[in-house]
Amino acid sequence: MRQQKKLRKKRKFFRIFLRTLMILGGVLVLVNHFDTDDYVKNPEHIQVLVNRENQLSPDYVPEDLVTPQIRYTFDEDSPKRKVRREVAEALEEMFTAAEQEGITLYATSGYRSYERQKQIYQERVSALGIQAASAYVAPPGCSEHQTGLAMDIGNQLTEEFGNSKEGKWLEKNAFKYGFIIRYPKGKEHITGISYEPWHIRYVGDEAAVEIASQGITLEEFVGADPVGRHSGDVNQRISIQIQHFLGMILNRFATFTSENN
Ligand SMILES: [Zn+2]
Repeated sequence: MRQQKKLRKKRKFFRIFLRTLMILGGVLVLVNHFDTDDYVKNPEHIQVLVNRENQLSPDYVPEDLVTPQIRYTFDEDSPKRKVRREVAEALEEMFTAAEQEGITLYATSGYRSYERQKQIYQERVSALGIQAASAYVAPPGCSEHQTGLAMDIGNQLTEEFGNSKEGKWLEKNAFKYGFIIRYPKGKEHITGISYEPWHIRYVGDEAAVEIASQGITLEEFVGADPVGRHSGDVNQRISIQIQHFLGMILNRFATFTSENN
């Protein structure tokens, strides 16, 4: 009897603890989000850094978006087929090279407008709450997909893609075409994003070689602070740690839709 009571008390405490964590996190996300008055200054630069702390202006739309001739996971015409011209050429080259080695790659999601990201983010916030949503969906302005320099590859956007032969090929070869695996495993404390083996980012040949050979992230390459480790900004640091924690849990259980970070 007494033990049961104890157990119930424990569970209640845990529930309250989790709820408090989520509410606190939610408030911090909001504070941080509306705190940003500066936008990224060089959005068209191919090595531009975009993350939770370096946001794109709602007005930014790349000028040279085109549709590469590659295989997609969907049939319909959509802006998400597009990337910037230089990226399109690199993708075509990479898809052809993969094919010659018996690897069939599929593109899932390229360019995404600020408005589209806002819509996805808001849908996820109403479904999961702001804290959980922020753990695996980038707030508007914080997604690399708005730059037209990123592409998600693969039929299924799960961690498992990293173990597939397509995922392994990508990890080994993407740099030869100017791409990096933008959110590698073990670098979550720097990128602020859980491992995403499917998300590749164009940075150009030289930068890609350097980033891949040194095993670093784009944050480290451009000499930026790790996301959430900004000295002095304790709010953001705590918020991102909570988000990361929730992101890890969600990564295990949630099925990713085709558009998130
Ligand atoms: Zn992505």
